Amino acid sequence: MLDVAAVRAQFPIFETTAHGFPLIYLDSAASTQQPTAVIAAVNAYHRQTHANIHRGVYQLSQTATRLYEEARNTVARFINAADSAECIFTRGATESINLVAACWGAANLNAGDEIILSTLEHHSNIVPWQLIAQKTGAHIRVIPINDAGEIQFDAYQQLLSSRTRLVAVNQVSNALGTINSVREIIAAAHAVGAVVLIDGAQWVAHGVTNVQELNADFYVFSGHKLYGPTGIGVLYGKRDLLNTMPPYQGGGDMIEQVTFERTTYAPLPSKYEAGTPNISGAVGLAAALTWIESIGLATISAHEQRLLQHATARLSAISGLEIKGMAAQKSGVVSWIVVDPPLATLDIGTQLDLRGICIRTGHHCCQPLMNRFGIAATARASFGVYNNLDDIDRLAEALTEIIAAARAKNTISPALQQEGWGNFKLTAAASPTAAANEIAEIFEFLPDWPMRHQHVIDLGDKLLPMPESLKTAATAVHGCQSTVHIAARIAPGTTDIIEFLADSDANLVRGLIALLQQIYSGQSAAAILAFDAEAFFARIGLDQHLSMSRRNGLAAMVQRVRTLAQQVASE
Ligand code: PLP
Repeated sequence: MLDVAAVRAQFPIFETTAHGFPLIYLDSAASTQQPTAVIAAVNAYHRQTHANIHRGVYQLSQTATRLYEEARNTVARFINAADSAECIFTRGATESINLVAACWGAANLNAGDEIILSTLEHHSNIVPWQLIAQKTGAHIRVIPINDAGEIQFDAYQQLLSSRTRLVAVNQVSNALGTINSVREIIAAAHAVGAVVLIDGAQWVAHGVTNVQELNADFYVFSGHKLYGPTGIGVLYGKRDLLNTMPPYQGGGDMIEQVTFERTTYAPLPSKYEAGTPNISGAVGLAAALTWIESIGLATISAHEQRLLQHATARLSAISGLEIKGMAAQKSGVVSWIVVDPPLATLDIGTQLDLRGICIRTGHHCCQPLMNRFGIAATARASFGVYNNLDDIDRLAEALTEIIAAARAKNTISPALQQEGWGNFKLTAAASPTAAANEIAEIFEFLPDWPMRHQHVIDLGDKLLPMPESLKTAATAVHGCQSTVHIAARIAPGTTDIIEFLADSDANLVRGLIALLQQIYSGQSAAAILAFDAEAFFARIGLDQHLSMSRRNGLAAMVQRVRTLAQQVASE
């Protein structure tokens, strides 16, 4: 049994609080937290041994070089590579996949060749293949999954043929937690002569990796998902494949000899590591791997399976909540949606955040997978070695509370939903600035973000209803994670007054819409164009408290209103 309290004590982040609550971190599939062993190793590197590597004749540089190359040896040991030269340091899984797609793809793909991916893939294991397929004329074929979120092996075997050049699949799905039978997937691909890339980003911190036993041709992962730093990752590739591929980037360290006429390249691994690498990242990654080994992956895996079972039991007992992805083999990931009452995952995430609970919401960079389930997003809790059963109980209790509160709330009456523009009435302020000042005064009066957040949600509850007939493709706003429609028009009987109706499935976004409506709707095109929305959002602190995607969504809504104002102003 793992001593979770002792493990947790090694993570300084858990000494912090979130909105006054003890931190409950359930987003390890996005990034794990770092133990003192890793932080200290990076710190010591910077304090005592930093210099550029490989080229310095002085001792400091040689020490840094030794640490960097020892880190490579640690990686090779951790994944059981035959030779550490087969382990290339990259920025992360994404860069590793891009490298293989660009270099192996350029040398090996021709028109009509096929690349097989699965429905479960992260965008970083889809888009690089699309890019090289477009260049070479190769085609992408996709392995379907069943409703539990498992790869359909029979369908996979039918896709394999003499045209298959490469199969790229993840070992664990980040969105659902499905553990794929990669050993069988690799063997079947090899039987038709195809090369296989395994995206191990979600596996390496949760179970033993043995690239030789798997017989993987390429294996990729990121440091920040296994208790290491960001900006460092690994591409493992079989020596013969790496040797016959062209280099990825040109620059220092990757050359043997350069003349203006011709360049020869350095042997592995330097051939793929152009420029000064992330030396401290490699040192931190090695410290993370050693730290994981000190606990033992068998112990970690058993602990996470206990967490998974507990979370699955607790969350499936909550009425109105539906777990997505119930594969027989899963790692510590639970994804869900709330269907009764329908709750936007964004609202679930922000409500949990206000209780100190960090989860991930959205499409998890797996839009094709979301499409397969006919949903836009899920809420996802993912576990690390530092989580305990209490974290999961707190999550389940908070979710029960959030769903009960949503049920108790009055929803917009269907009669109002039917009303159209004809009934639209909003009393406009004297100017956008006057409206903004009123809003800012209320924000200044509310002492902290949780109260301001609640105020925004309350505004959203009172948002003027938008008739369903106005929610068309033309009124959809892109750049928002949640669904947003905004219909703007020139107010009847005027030539330059703009008004708009908007709606979203997320309560927080509805609140933001209400703010925008207060500022812009009923104002002249000139006044709208003169108003500095960004400065206003900064003034009321939205720039600090909204996620990047939400800020982009807000900017897209503002842009929609401004575009109409520009059209009106130029007429
Ligand atoms: N592959 C999977 C399955 C992932 O979950 C992720 C990140 O979430 C990636 C690839 C990309 O990793 P990175 O952003 O570290 O390059």
